[in-house]
Amino acid sequence: MRTSTRDFTLRRERTLAGALRVLRDEPDTVPLAGCTDVYVALQFGQKPGTRYLDLTPLAALRRITTSGDRLVIGALASYTDLQRSRLVRTRLPMLVEAAHTVGGAQIQHMGTVGGNIANASPAGDTLPVFAVSGAEVVLQGASGERRVPFTSFYTGYRQSVRRSDELITAVEVPAVEGRQWFRKVGTRAAQAISKVVLAGVRGASPALALGSVGPTVVRLPRTEALLASGSPIEAALDALRAEISPIDDVRSTADYRRDVAANLVREFWARTA
Ligand SMILES: Cc1cc2nc3c(=O)[nH]c(=O)nc-3n(C[C@H](O)[C@H](O)[C@H](O)COP(=O)(O)OP(=O)(O)OC[C@H]3O[C@@H](n4cnc5c(N)ncnc54)[C@H](O)[C@@H]3O)c2cc1C
Repeated sequence: MRTSTRDFTLRRERTLAGALRVLRDEPDTVPLAGCTDVYVALQFGQKPGTRYLDLTPLAALRRITTSGDRLVIGALASYTDLQRSRLVRTRLPMLVEAAHTVGGAQIQHMGTVGGNIANASPAGDTLPVFAVSGAEVVLQGASGERRVPFTSFYTGYRQSVRRSDELITAVEVPAVEGRQWFRKVGTRAAQAISKVVLAGVRGASPALALGSVGPTVVRLPRTEALLASGSPIEAALDALRAEISPIDDVRSTADYRRDVAANLVREFWARTA
């Protein structure tokens, strides 16, 4: 471990109320779920904090249930939990697809939905799914709960509206009408962060979201409107290329990402026809 953990403290609370009190009373406490992102940061010599709060005793936050017509996915649900859940498989199969593409088996066992959302990487594989499905993020602090539409959750690169005294407790997804589609392009089929990742729903009006093509996951309103109006696919793809702002980085180039994004939208449109 590059970062020395000698001066670190780790708190463990048995109740959500206790955990929220720790976040309120001890500012800068870093929640830990599966630790798969935090561990990488420590390994690279970064120091996300010195005070940590282990969320794993909060077993209730791992449940996947329904409330009315909404699918309620607890923040501590792992990718393996998503794959095994009959509710997720029947109601949100694109999330199961996404869960299968994350890391390898070990990461899928440890990594959580809440961690993926809170980590706020534009490459997070579950994020496009939530962006196209009308999801809401449920945030709880010691003083109460609030719900934020997923598409308003991120404010910039690795920035979100979550306050440091709040936990993500769940993500709620209404019934999704239409054909769901998910596709990730990375260097390999497994253990690869995406170069481009797309989720789409083809319902009464199409919904599309891309990851790894901008500072946050993005919806594509102009592309969606052109597809909805019956414009030729090439016109929609021209709009798409202008609508995204990918960058060159260690994983890919901006030009390649633009081409792949267009190919994925073309494939989505053909396969869901
Ligand atoms: C080898 C490897 C491969 C990977 N492959 C992929 C991949 O293919 N696709 C992908 O998307 N990601 C990938 N990841 C990243 C990571 O596994 C996921 O982002 C995972 O979902 C993080 O969840 P976690 O529970 O481990 O988060 P943690 O590491 O515990 O936490 C991550 C961040 O979220 C915060 N946090 C966690 N839970 C909560 C909560 N409930 N409320 C508020 N804040 C919270 C933490 O404070 C921290 O800032 C990979 C990581 C590794 C090490």
